[in-house]
Amino acid sequence: MLATVRWHLILFAETPLKKTLLALAAAVIAPVALAAYPEKPITLVVPFAAGGPTDKVARDLAEVLRKGLNNQTVVVENVGGAGGTLGAAKVARANADGYTFLLHHIGMATSPALYRNLAYKTLDDFEYVGLINEVPMTLIGRPTLPPNNYPELLKWIEANKGKINLANAGLGAASHLCGLLLQQSLKADMTTVPYKGTAPAMTDLLGGQVDLMCDQTTNTSSQIEAGKVKAYAVSTLKPLTTPALAKLPTLDSQGLKGFNVSIWHGLYAPKGTPKPVLDMMNAALRSALKDPEFIKRQEALGAVVVSDNRVNPAEHKKFVEAEINKWGPAIKAAGQYAD
Ligand code: ASP
Repeated sequence: MLATVRWHLILFAETPLKKTLLALAAAVIAPVALAAYPEKPITLVVPFAAGGPTDKVARDLAEVLRKGLNNQTVVVENVGGAGGTLGAAKVARANADGYTFLLHHIGMATSPALYRNLAYKTLDDFEYVGLINEVPMTLIGRPTLPPNNYPELLKWIEANKGKINLANAGLGAASHLCGLLLQQSLKADMTTVPYKGTAPAMTDLLGGQVDLMCDQTTNTSSQIEAGKVKAYAVSTLKPLTTPALAKLPTLDSQGLKGFNVSIWHGLYAPKGTPKPVLDMMNAALRSALKDPEFIKRQEALGAVVVSDNRVNPAEHKKFVEAEINKWGPAIKAAGQYAD
């Protein structure tokens, strides 16, 4: 039926009548299509490599989200590279038909300052669905790194100036920001090694190819718990309570006064996605954030599920705007640009 309607409309010349008929057809067809939404799998783009911290959040969330989406499958697609900007650009350009969403982190707010030629407008090219969680970070080292605790690490950094490699997931990634602040605070220049995500970076860290990394607890807690990496400190003001991370001191208590980095994840859709679809996705997100299993799983990874009004699209957007204003001047002052 849809094909027939479209076919007949193609036969009209570019006339005002055609435009009116097209608008009418869209108005009639849209509600019919939405009533059945979602009628095929939904793609959730993660702008980092599979198996990493953001991917883990997305895959856990995808499982619970479907309960609020008529049990439709939510397929995670990894589009890593350039600190998350490639995946975000792909979603900004995607069809606004309700079948493509983006799960991104703090990079959404840092990339406008870092990338002067960003392929999208962060505040204009997306619909904001809601904030998901907040995740602390940990400073970890390769298993063969000599220091066993933070004071020893400081001495080792001092003794190895100019020789230290620091892995990250590209400019604008959380690992980049945390590493940047760390180098500034310690006045230590390290060679940064960018990856498409901290999953491949973790592989190289475990293999001893890179020395240090500041990464989200969603990626590091299991490696720390298994004793596979050296763990030195957490990035938040308060120590963490997750058993695997509770023994780690804060950077703040170790002399880096005020060091406090906690990153967040949010859900987005291409601009123009129909409002009923956005409402349905927001309702599915709200239920997911109250799902005891999801909360438990996130807490075990050191993450905190959002329980305040930033799960509202308007508040989510306001929050990201505030984050852009917070990080922009710091990035500009550091003279860090990706282009
Ligand atoms: N979130 C990125 C990832 O999933 C890592 C980062 O931002 O540092 O790989």
